[in-house]
Amino acid sequence: MKLTNFFDGKWQDIGEEKYTAVLNPASGEQLAEVRMSTKEDVDLAIAAATKAQKKWALVPAPKRADYLYEIGRLMKEKKEHLAQVLTKEMGKVIEEGRGEVQEGIDMAFYMAGEGRRLFGETTPSELADKFAMSVRAPIGVVGLITPWNFPVAIATWKSFPAIVAGNTFIWKPATETPMMAYEMAKIFEEAGLPDGVANIVFGSGSEVGTAMIEHPDVKVISFTGSTETGSKVAELGGRHLKKVSLEMGGKNAVIVMEDADLSLAVEGILWSAFGTAGQRCTACSRVIVHKDVKKELEVKLLEQMEKLTIGDGLDESVKIGPVINKKALDKIHSYIKIGQEEGANLLVGGNVLEEGDLANGNYYAPTLFTDVKPNMRIAQEEIFGPVVSLIEVGSLEEAIEVNNGVKFGLSSSIFSRDVNKVFRAQRDLDTGIVYVNAGTTGAEIHLPFGGTKGTGNGHRDSGVAALDVYTEWKSIYVDFSGKLQRAQIDTE
Ligand code: NAD
Repeated sequence: MKLTNFFDGKWQDIGEEKYTAVLNPASGEQLAEVRMSTKEDVDLAIAAATKAQKKWALVPAPKRADYLYEIGRLMKEKKEHLAQVLTKEMGKVIEEGRGEVQEGIDMAFYMAGEGRRLFGETTPSELADKFAMSVRAPIGVVGLITPWNFPVAIATWKSFPAIVAGNTFIWKPATETPMMAYEMAKIFEEAGLPDGVANIVFGSGSEVGTAMIEHPDVKVISFTGSTETGSKVAELGGRHLKKVSLEMGGKNAVIVMEDADLSLAVEGILWSAFGTAGQRCTACSRVIVHKDVKKELEVKLLEQMEKLTIGDGLDESVKIGPVINKKALDKIHSYIKIGQEEGANLLVGGNVLEEGDLANGNYYAPTLFTDVKPNMRIAQEEIFGPVVSLIEVGSLEEAIEVNNGVKFGLSSSIFSRDVNKVFRAQRDLDTGIVYVNAGTTGAEIHLPFGGTKGTGNGHRDSGVAALDVYTEWKSIYVDFSGKLQRAQIDTE
């Protein structure tokens, strides 16, 4: 199967043809080939989006929302198929694949509801016979750049608010996971979205991403990916005065206090550390544990880690799938040596899995380090694999300090039965998301999603907050006095 670009309402196959293979990370099997587009493809797609946007902005928002209801309905109808494709190209286990597709469906219906809200404000004027209000106005053409670890959910977090607000978009998915974008393009087409509203251009970040950011007709860039790439996007976007929304890396921690329900904490840690093979932006990669329960937690964790089943995510009994590619496998493995050289104690894992069928895919053993110090590289850098570091602390204050002592600020969690500790923690943990008595993953689509410090630049995906990325505030004054009334002067 050859995946070609979709823009101006058509499957495009123009110009020089260059394709690259899409591989199943569970087996190494080739699933498809995807077009590696050029700047010329990007320019054509942006021209189509620019032309369509003027008309689209004039469609009443509830009518724009009707398309989203239809998109949500189609996603629901095709949920199992989408989840299967997702698991094949990305590797996450099928249960999580279904969950991710559901997130997209939820986002479609939630943002469709915004078609009848998109609330602005009305407010009294300081002058007589004058009316004042502010409304959300569409911005124009928006550029979406997404990572491979959530190939459909993140795209819906960005494209659905963009659509309902009256923008058109160009979406560049990650080269590792273009099949979900292809599936979504088919859904956009089937839902009858007008030509040029949804446009997908496949290709590399350096060629397609750069061309999108530099193009004068793209007003907003919404990016999710690593902090390293995000910084480059912000730099280039800044030079071109783009509004740039960044959602980037994490180094998320679960705090386990001495009064925690330890069995529940273990469940929370396993789910958030090893789900998606540790390749979630919110993955727990540090466990900050009170010294009184450290040994007990270690024992319980090791007991449960032994039971984790690893393999092809399409097998319903498997709990942990592969990591995305060989490069990721090498990166993850390099941190084992780094951790050991720094003096951390490797309790379990630390190896590539190559027995039997696993040899064909990219599998890494769930790994637990203990006696990790907060400043070690394994406790500071995003490893993006199934590797967890246990850090011992003596108090809640120290736990919060360790949690906050990294350059990222996406998600954190505390397990404790003490309401005072919990409330102090939710106030003082410097992350965009805080969980209490749950792991570091599990965001719901109607709340803002994003982080502080090196994780973001102040914008949020999801929730009503996402609309701030895709709209401009416009203030409107209507004077019906029939005379010139000057603000701040003619107020008496
Ligand atoms: P990545 O930064 O390598 O790539 C992300 C996207 O940017 C891809 O589409 C890629 O092709 C593109 N890109 C690469 N270079 C570019 C350039 N110079 N200009 C423009 N675009 C460019 O990230 P990844 O490996 O795909 O994803 C993993 C990362 O994403 C992790 O760091 C993870 O924490 C992060 N992530 C963050 C969130 C969040 O919401 N905070 C969610 C998911 C993933």
